[in-house]
Amino acid sequence: MRIDSKKWLASILGNAVRFDEPMSRHTSFRVGGPAEVFAAPESLETLISLVKGCEERELSYTVIGGGSNLLVKDAGIPGIVIVLKKCLSEISFREDQQAGIIVKAQAGASLSALCMKAVKQGFAGMNFALGIPGTVGGGIMMNAGTALGSMENVLESVTVLRPGGKIEEIQRKEMIFAYRKFGCKAGFKPALIMEGCFRLCPGDPEKLKKEADEILETRRKRQPIEFPSAGCFFKNPENGQAAGKLIELAGLKGTRIGGAEISQKHANFIINRDRASSADILALMELIRETVSKRFNVELETEVKIIG
Ligand SMILES: Cc1cc2nc3c(=O)[nH]c(=O)nc-3n(C[C@H](O)[C@H](O)[C@H](O)COP(=O)(O)OP(=O)(O)OC[C@H]3O[C@@H](n4cnc5c(N)ncnc54)[C@H](O)[C@@H]3O)c2cc1C
Repeated sequence: MRIDSKKWLASILGNAVRFDEPMSRHTSFRVGGPAEVFAAPESLETLISLVKGCEERELSYTVIGGGSNLLVKDAGIPGIVIVLKKCLSEISFREDQQAGIIVKAQAGASLSALCMKAVKQGFAGMNFALGIPGTVGGGIMMNAGTALGSMENVLESVTVLRPGGKIEEIQRKEMIFAYRKFGCKAGFKPALIMEGCFRLCPGDPEKLKKEADEILETRRKRQPIEFPSAGCFFKNPENGQAAGKLIELAGLKGTRIGGAEISQKHANFIINRDRASSADILALMELIRETVSKRFNVELETEVKIIG
């Protein structure tokens, strides 16, 4: 990156910018080389100036959330990585007769904070997302979910930042959802989600809390949360089989390359067992794909986003 671009970034962001920032510090996998620029704007005004300035200067940027669905390559990420945790982290509830219960959650807020707040207030609808790490923005982009539901079930509208700093609201009827995928009918990929509005319904706080405890306990038992990972590595194939089951049947549980391992607890989790590199994880990914393809004639697609 040119020196004048670096100077401009330092002038608008101050201490909120870092150069050559290791992405292992910002991903749940705890791997990944440096982001050329890592920006965590502290106000909405700074965020808008940053995005507009990047467009004018033709600097590429990538918005990330909690980094819990990312595998960043060892070579790092060229351009600017933007996180919204400091400038867009509010959650508010609105209840009226016409609209019902609407929760407005900014993209940088944590998804688990949203779920826990809903439980506390006695609002039902978010429990499906309990235990999913990351932010509201990342959850929307991934149409995050479980067997109990996904963002698609509760999302009413999404506010996005469009080129030129224009803020636009996308209504539910304009959204497209697929398995771990979100998009808009207008055809553009929302490069920066600012907030989401979720429609919930009245519930019994005690019942919701009991359900929440059970969901979290089940997740703790089934998932290797004691090791760094990015959750399920592969999507379940369209034929209805579970990717984890195929990996297990292929006899791959416990297989290790370098510091990366296929979890013994849940075969669709690749874990960073011991100082893995991104290359170790990618090699294990390839081994799984090849083995499952040969054994079952199924091509596994990654759920984890590989960047860099
Ligand atoms: C232990 C563990 C368990 C998990 N369990 C589940 C599960 O049960 N169900 C499930 O669906 N997922 C699960 N995941 C995966 C992950 O937590 C989810 O996909 C989560 O929603 C990602 O959110 P994030 O904020 O970390 O997004 P990131 O990983 O940071 O980003 C994901 C994608 O969204 C984009 N993005 C993020 N924020 C924005 C934004 N504001 N605007 C535009 N683009 C954006 C990024 O560029 C990237 O392409 C799990 C992960 C772990 C580590």
